[in-house]
Amino acid sequence: MEPLSYDIIIIGGGAAGFFAAINAAEIAPEAKICLLERGKEVLTKVRVSGGGRCNVTHAEFLPKELTRNYPRGEKELRGPFHSFMTGDTIEWFEKRGVPLKIEEDGRMFPESNSSETIIDLFLEESKRLKIDVLTKQAVQSLKQNNELWELSTSQENFTAEKVLVATGSNSKMWELLKELGHTIVPGVPSLFTFKITDQRIKDLPGVATNAVVRLKGEKLETSGPLLITHWGMSGPAILKLSAWGARELSDRKNFEIEVNWLPKLSSEEIVEELQRLKKENAKQHPQKYTQFDLPKRLWQSLVHASGIGAEVRWADLNKQQLEELTIQLTSGIFQVHGKSTFKEEFVTAGGVELKEVNFKTFESKICKNLFLAGEVLNIDAITGGFNFQNAWTGGFLAARAMSSDSAV
Ligand SMILES: Cc1cc2nc3c(=O)[nH]c(=O)nc-3n(C[C@H](O)[C@H](O)[C@H](O)COP(=O)(O)OP(=O)(O)OC[C@H]3O[C@@H](n4cnc5c(N)ncnc54)[C@H](O)[C@@H]3O)c2cc1C
Repeated sequence: MEPLSYDIIIIGGGAAGFFAAINAAEIAPEAKICLLERGKEVLTKVRVSGGGRCNVTHAEFLPKELTRNYPRGEKELRGPFHSFMTGDTIEWFEKRGVPLKIEEDGRMFPESNSSETIIDLFLEESKRLKIDVLTKQAVQSLKQNNELWELSTSQENFTAEKVLVATGSNSKMWELLKELGHTIVPGVPSLFTFKITDQRIKDLPGVATNAVVRLKGEKLETSGPLLITHWGMSGPAILKLSAWGARELSDRKNFEIEVNWLPKLSSEEIVEELQRLKKENAKQHPQKYTQFDLPKRLWQSLVHASGIGAEVRWADLNKQQLEELTIQLTSGIFQVHGKSTFKEEFVTAGGVELKEVNFKTFESKICKNLFLAGEVLNIDAITGGFNFQNAWTGGFLAARAMSSDSAV
C-alpha cells in the first residue's frame, strides 16, 4: 500500500498538537499537514481540563516569573517564553473570537467558562485550514529513511518531511523515542492531594486558610491557600508541594508534612500575642473565640489538640499548654498515608530529556526534522494554567520552525 505523503505530520491530537497544526497551516498555507490521533476523539484532556472550564493560561506576564511555576523546565522555558507566552496566548485566542478572563488568583479561562469553546475553535480552524485530522491512528513505528520520516499506524503508512511528536505522557511513544536515541526520564505523577487521617482535621472539610507546608526531612516548602478535604488536604499549597516534590515523593506512600497555619507571623510574635491574650482575656475560654483570624473551627481544633479543654480559661493556661499551642499553630506534624488525584488538573513529571532539545525551535538534537512539544518533554508545572501554556508555547515555536523552511 502506497504511504500517504505529507509535508508535516503531527502525532497527537491534544493541546500542543492542535496548536502546532493550526499555526503551521497559517504560516505555510501551501503545506500539506496531517494530525494523527490514537483515540476515537481528539482534545479529550482539554474537554475535562479545569473542571470542564479549561484553565487556558495564567496572568503572569514576565518570562522569568512565569518559569518559576515549572518544577521541571524552568531554565529551558525562559527563552521560548520570550518568543511566545501569556500575552501572545491571550491575543491568539481573542483574535479568533475566544476572549479570556482573569480570575482573582490569576487563572485565565475562556469567557464562556466552557472548554467546549476551545475545542470548537480548534476544530473549526483545522477545517478552515484544511488540516487532515485522522483519528484511530495510533502511531506504532517511526523511523527516518533518506531524510524522510516513515510512520505506520494500525491502519495506514505515512511519510513526512517533518514530524512533531505531541503525544503527552504516552509511554509507548516514549519507547519509540528511546529507540530513536532519546533519553527518557521515567514518568511519575505530579499534582496530587494528600490523604491524611488526623483528629485535628477530621471534622473540618471545606475549611481553607493560607499556610506554609514543609516536607519533613527535606528543604522543600510551599505556601498558599490550603484546603482541608474529607480525605485530607488539598489546595495550592499542597498541590505545589506535590509538584516540586514529585520525584522525592514518587516512591513514598507515607511521609510527614509540617504545617504553619500562621505564615505571616514569627514565633516570637505569636508567643507575645498568646501572652497578651492570657493577660487581657484572662476570664475568656480560648476555645470560644478564634484568634489570629484563623477559621474558627480550625482554631478550636488546634486549641483542643494542645490539651486545652473547653472549660479552661486563658488565665489557666500553663507554660506547657502555651508552648504546645504555639507548636500546633506553627509546626504541627501531619502523617500523609497516600496520594489522591486532583480532579481539576493532573500531569506527569518525566519525558524526553531536555538537553536533547533545541529550545529555539523545539527540534530534537538527536533526530533532524523531529520536533517535540507539550507533556512528551520532561516539563511540567504547578496547577493554574501553566501546563497548557507550555503546550501552546512549544506548539507555536515548533510550528514556526517546521513551516518556515522553504522546502515546505
Ligand atoms: C483532568 C485534567 C485537567 C487538566 N486541566 C488543566 C488546566 O485546566 N490547565 C492546564 O494548564 N493544564 C491542565 N491539565 C494538564 C494539561 O491537560 C496537559 O498538560 C496538556 O493537555 C498536555 O498537552 P499535550 O498536547 O502535550 O498532551 P495531551 O493533551 O495528553 O495530548 C496527547 C494526545 O496524543 C495522543 N496520542 C498518544 N499516543 C499516541 C500515538 N502513539 N499515536 C497517536 N496519538 C497518540 C493522545 O491520545 C492525546 O490525544 C489537566 C490535565 C488533566 C488530566
